[in-house]
Amino acid sequence: MSSVDERIACWVSPAIRAMQAYHVPAAGGLVKLDAMENPYTCSQALREEWLNALKAAELNRYPDPDAAATKQALRSVMRVPDELALLVGNGSDEIIQMIITVLAAPGRTVLAPEPGFVMYRILAQALGLRYHGVPLQEDFSLDVGAMLAAIEETRPAVIFMASPNNPTGNLFSRKDMIRIIEAAPGLVVVDEAYFIFAGDGCMDLPVRYPHLLVMRTLSKLGLAGLRVGCVAGNEAWISELDKIRLPYNINVLSQISTDFFLAHYPLLEEQADVIRRDRNVLYQALQRLDGIRVHPSDANFLLFQTTTQAADTVHQALKDRGILIKNLHGTHPLLDQCLRVTVGTAEENEKFLMALGAVLR
Ligand SMILES: *Cc1c(COP(=O)(O)O)cnc(C)c1O
Repeated sequence: MSSVDERIACWVSPAIRAMQAYHVPAAGGLVKLDAMENPYTCSQALREEWLNALKAAELNRYPDPDAAATKQALRSVMRVPDELALLVGNGSDEIIQMIITVLAAPGRTVLAPEPGFVMYRILAQALGLRYHGVPLQEDFSLDVGAMLAAIEETRPAVIFMASPNNPTGNLFSRKDMIRIIEAAPGLVVVDEAYFIFAGDGCMDLPVRYPHLLVMRTLSKLGLAGLRVGCVAGNEAWISELDKIRLPYNINVLSQISTDFFLAHYPLLEEQADVIRRDRNVLYQALQRLDGIRVHPSDANFLLFQTTTQAADTVHQALKDRGILIKNLHGTHPLLDQCLRVTVGTAEENEKFLMALGAVLR
């Protein structure tokens, strides 16, 4: 062993040494349908206006540490109740990290239904907590009985539920989530990354349940490059999180750009409407294909299972035809032979369908 390896073995925590870096595959030249991005951009005129707004950025100065204008714009488009406080993060990934950090202590548990969003597990492990996943039912709804039993057994510091859930695409029942919220001894987070595709959500619930936080992001609605997410909840809980927030976590370019695009929010909503319509078209087309089984979705992606060929083979064959989707086979027993495709433009979806049809033939 070299001296570098020895020193790493001595000083980097065993939990971190056991981890793998989160790998994002290169998408150069491919039709990119793997990451739930909005495929649309804005008009040239709006782009010019945005670039003009950016001219006001003072790069020699620190940004507004509270991102006050950005928070106000987020409150307004997300209809955050006045009683709730709001915190912004460099993407909701950073907010997940902040939440787990304030709750971190040896032996504590982060609980989440599975299959679910991978960052809950990754950040729990990185911060020295235990992670406990509770399998969803076969139809991907919450297994409330199993969740309540796991709550009893592990007394989780925090429970994360993504609704609509990634990678399954379905909304969880509000009644089921409320039963879990009522049984939780610690904090509960409902992660609504896909809210714009799914209607009302749970933004009203933290008023009734002060130990509930509702988290959202701009990433899936067309602004993934900005890295802006937010979490709403009880003022006292939000101030605990704010203590460990890095002072300038939202940079000046992100603040100006968020303020600008949220002033044009109806455009983003129109794009989401188109994506939702195209999702339904794609769902119906996939239902007609032999060799796969597609699941219904309330988000901007569809999960499907290959039934006649291995998912690995189909994934690679699509890539060879210039189309990148996400292979989930091997990540969870409920995702056996499963692939996930993001809804792109009508033209991209058509290319994907043609390629998939050819691969399955
Ligand atoms: C994409 C995603 C996020 C991460 O969003 P960022 O704001 O880009 O960090 C969080 N939760 C779920 C369920 C997601 O799918």
